[in-house]
Amino acid sequence: MRNKKLRLPAGVFITVVFLLFFVQWKVENPMLLAERFIKGGGWFEVFAVGLYGALVAWHMQDPGKVARWRKYTWFAFSIVFFSQLLLGLLLSDIFLMSGKLHLPVPMMILAGPIYRGHASVMTILFLSTVILSGPAWCSHLCYFGAIDNIAASGKTRRGPIRYKWALKWTVLLLLIAGAVVLRLMKVPVLSATLLAGGFGILGLGIILIISRREGRMVHCTSYCPIGTVVNLTQKVNPFRMYIDDSSCTSCMICTTSCKYDALNESDIKARRPGNTCTLCGDCVSTCHASSIKYRFLKLSPDQSRNLYLLITISLHAATMALARI
Ligand code: SF4
Ligand code: SF4
Ligand code: SF4
Repeated sequence: MRNKKLRLPAGVFITVVFLLFFVQWKVENPMLLAERFIKGGGWFEVFAVGLYGALVAWHMQDPGKVARWRKYTWFAFSIVFFSQLLLGLLLSDIFLMSGKLHLPVPMMILAGPIYRGHASVMTILFLSTVILSGPAWCSHLCYFGAIDNIAASGKTRRGPIRYKWALKWTVLLLLIAGAVVLRLMKVPVLSATLLAGGFGILGLGIILIISRREGRMVHCTSYCPIGTVVNLTQKVNPFRMYIDDSSCTSCMICTTSCKYDALNESDIKARRPGNTCTLCGDCVSTCHASSIKYRFLKLSPDQSRNLYLLITISLHAATMALARI
């Protein structure tokens, strides 16, 4: 039994070490922070981040611990990201990746390339994670969404968030149109950056006031255009979540376990979470009948869940070491 419990942490450790090994070995300009301070320190960081991933996997393989561990490790990701940005700005550019500053607001992943006319590293990183792990960007990897998750920690309100899709489409289309207009009118970078900053501040306001009051991630599910892009593109990845019709009693207890507004009564009747589901797994342990399950092609629900955790936790740990501006 104990050996079985070691499989996932061991798999995450090996995956993280494998990924970071190549970064440390092949990339000339050191990407791992420890290497920038002490020659050879990057190897220690590879090992330490692998251990961190294994620890997270050890705890998150228990469905009952997922919500708590995901909340704190995701928030830690955000703290590491923003601390490095602050230290880079105030102390030394050793804490920055490229040194080319851009606003740390997720909508820049889409608006930035449209305005500039070419993709950024962040856009490529984002698309790769959608291919590898579907919507996990919005549950484990985004530096901004972690703040919404923490703000929405309180009691979750019942019932769907009103006008969610109307708002999502409006913001997404306005963002795309706005970026195209800024580009065509050759609006200077400073003005475009101020506009993007205003977008981010409005988002923070939604997090601090509405998400906190609702106990749900209103910013991520209704406002952030990257969340909408994730909702629309996540099906390129085969991971799914479903509700087992043969065991679900329609008791509706799980409706208050989802911060992403994806487990309303209509979703339970349809036997699958709504489109804003990020496969976070917070709801799995709340079902007394174990009816909420992962699916990946022909694998069993447990195998599918373990594979999902392996990919997602490995990406989380590796990007924690690499994601900085
Ligand atoms: S919805 Fe936006 S802010 Fe929220 S996690 Fe996704 S990309 Fe990040
Ligand atoms: S808690 Fe389980 S049994 Fe009850 S509605 Fe949700 S999925 Fe169905
Ligand atoms: S339905 Fe479950 S897995 Fe999907 S977002 Fe909601 S809590 Fe997470």
